[in-house]
Amino acid sequence: MNKHTFSLLRLFIPVIAMLAFLLAAASSLFWITRSIDLEASNRQKDVAQHAISQLSSSIAHNQESSTFWDDAVIKMTEPDNEEWIDENLGSWMHTFFGMDKLFVLNGSDQPIYAFDNAKISPREAYFEYAQIIDPFVKSMRSAIASGETPAENSGLQSIGVTDYSFINSRPALISIKPIISDSGEIDLASEQTYLHVAIQFLDGTFAKKLSHDYALPGLRVVSSAQRLPGDIAISVQSKSGGNTIEFEWSAYRPGIQLVKSIAPFIIVSAVMLLLGSLLVSWFSYRRKVDQIENECRVRYLSTHDSLTALPNRYAFDEAVEALCDEIRQQPASKQTAIMFLDLDRFKQINDVFGHQSGDQVLVEITRRLQTLLPAEAMLFRLGGNGFTILLRGCSDDEVNHLSNQIISSVAAPIDLREGQVFTGISIGVSFAPLHGTDHHDLVRKADVALFHAKAAGRGHCSVFGDYMDEALQHQSRIEAGLRFAIVDKAQFSIHYQPKFTCGGTHLNSVEALIRWKHPEYGPISPKIFIPIAESNGLIGELGLWVLETACCDALHWQLDHVAINVSPLQLTDSLFALKVKAILGRTGFPASKLELELTETSIGGKSDVLLSNLVDLAAVGVTFAIDDFGTGSSSFERLKDVKFNRIKIDQGFIREITKSRNDTEIVRAMIALAHANGLQSTAEGVETEEQLSLLCSLGCDELQGYLLGKPKSREKIDHILLNNSGVDPHIRTRMIASA
Ligand code: C2E
Ligand code: CA
Ligand code: CA
Repeated sequence: MNKHTFSLLRLFIPVIAMLAFLLAAASSLFWITRSIDLEASNRQKDVAQHAISQLSSSIAHNQESSTFWDDAVIKMTEPDNEEWIDENLGSWMHTFFGMDKLFVLNGSDQPIYAFDNAKISPREAYFEYAQIIDPFVKSMRSAIASGETPAENSGLQSIGVTDYSFINSRPALISIKPIISDSGEIDLASEQTYLHVAIQFLDGTFAKKLSHDYALPGLRVVSSAQRLPGDIAISVQSKSGGNTIEFEWSAYRPGIQLVKSIAPFIIVSAVMLLLGSLLVSWFSYRRKVDQIENECRVRYLSTHDSLTALPNRYAFDEAVEALCDEIRQQPASKQTAIMFLDLDRFKQINDVFGHQSGDQVLVEITRRLQTLLPAEAMLFRLGGNGFTILLRGCSDDEVNHLSNQIISSVAAPIDLREGQVFTGISIGVSFAPLHGTDHHDLVRKADVALFHAKAAGRGHCSVFGDYMDEALQHQSRIEAGLRFAIVDKAQFSIHYQPKFTCGGTHLNSVEALIRWKHPEYGPISPKIFIPIAESNGLIGELGLWVLETACCDALHWQLDHVAINVSPLQLTDSLFALKVKAILGRTGFPASKLELELTETSIGGKSDVLLSNLVDLAAVGVTFAIDDFGTGSSSFERLKDVKFNRIKIDQGFIREITKSRNDTEIVRAMIALAHANGLQSTAEGVETEEQLSLLCSLGCDELQGYLLGKPKSREKIDHILLNNSGVDPHIRTRMIASA
């Protein structure tokens, strides 16, 4: 029984108690009713017993009214006495006392009178019953002969025989009385005594009368038991012992009557009490359920991320802790991968497109991850742009395969209302128990591996290796160094990479590329420190320093334009355009010669701030180029609000251009598309003569690459520009490249 079932049971205690109470009350009522009914039935039995015992004495008594009488004795011996007998011992007794059959027998026990079937009948009628009556007659005769007298307190004046019998299968009382003198003056020999025989049937009308007189409902007098449930019966044995007569009636049960009469009240009260307690229990139950639901909700909210509905960091920590416990208890457990995932450039998406778009991206990435993950994998969102996956029982290959699937799935464009955005994902993995059985150790190592993956150029997956700890420390030293270097910028410099027009004879333009010479580690690639500057909020200051320095350096260069790289984060600064214009004003560098290179990520969507910065700068003549064109998927449709000047075809397309027909066709299409939209095209990373001539044949406007010139110091550009006028373009290119 779990905790909740137990507590829910407790909530129903009022109902259970009420049921117990009602059961006890019902039992008591039943017991009381039974006692009352038992008492009543005993009383009824007593009454019935009394009534039955009265039967024989009352019939004898009634007979005596005419048989204990001088006139009767006299009349018996007179001729033509039938009428008199009928009036006094026959019809009259039938009418007055309800006796059914009446006979008068002479001293020889021969019938002299018969009353049968409710009328005077031929005296022979007696013989029909003689066999039954004879034994009683005999005992009467012997009682007379022996001179018996009536019992003292019987209240009778003459002796007699009364007993139960069956006549024509009907229960009956047979009573015989001698017809004797009441004055004692007429003395007859016993053998001359006339006998009066009375038969009273006990069933039928008599039973009904008895039932009415003694309040014995439905009284039946029968030969054998026919009892129904709830009937009371008294058996009466004949004195001769041969016959048993049953007196049966339905018991009067005042207890049940009482219960029946108050039953509606009892039922209504019980139902109300039960409903009341049910109501109390129900409200307690609802309260408890609400409380449990609230607890669950709180628990859910505290363990889940509200945006993606994924379990959060708290849940992740619990899961890793449980995993570590399991591994410690079962050291031979299968390997589990702890994967840390970090969305690349997410901060930029958030800053450029707004938090709502950032949220949409997170939801979409969650959806993509969920479709890729096997059922046993657990996905968590740690907050921000960080996700984690726990993958139990996996091999190294499976993790590798899954990571590759995730990286390519996340790289696919995401459609937002504002346009398409691109992100990438970096993955760091540690394995339990290979890399430890301690929660913090495993998490730290996955984090270190993630850092390593990001440093490797993002969109990578790295599995933790011991060497990474060192790399991480190196990374944090670089970070600290960057913070220090930004203070006076003395460790930074700018190199300028030449760009030429196809078939042009002069150096057309340069791209400013920042350089950092770390006092301990030497030159560090901008590919490493620019992302650090972006994530540490240093890019704004660094970017403006590049701009101002380049404007100063290039102030007197005879160039078509100078290209400056701008981080997407800089464009989210609402004062960016103002700051650029201030630099232009301070340095005197013409706005029309400034070309800002923006990556596709920064322009994939159009936040208000970004648009107003671009529009403001375009208004003073600043031009824009889309850097690394083709790596995102900027559509020209989306660029129509801002006037772009140029696309810079990413060096990834140029690298294989002479070998890959596909790349040739892609570049050809890009150039055609640019021209169709009134944009110029620049090819980056031109390293060979073949690439150069192919690109020129494809109609590319501008070329940039190590073949034509590596990034160089300001002094070297000064020198080139001073000496390159009028030189054969081919010779000039070689000259610049080798400078
Ligand atoms: P990017 O804007 O695409 O710059 C071109 C990169 O390609 C430069 O690398 C350049 O040295 C390199 N490159 C040029 N020609 C060739 C070639 O023929 N072959 C090869 N293999 N590489 C070539 P770099 O200077 O290391 O800069 C890397 C990236 O750092 C830049 O890529 C840019 O995104 C970023 N970056 C550099 N300077 C700045 C800056 O001042 N501000 C910002 N926001 N980003 C900068
Ligand atoms: Ca660039
Ligand atoms: Ca580029």
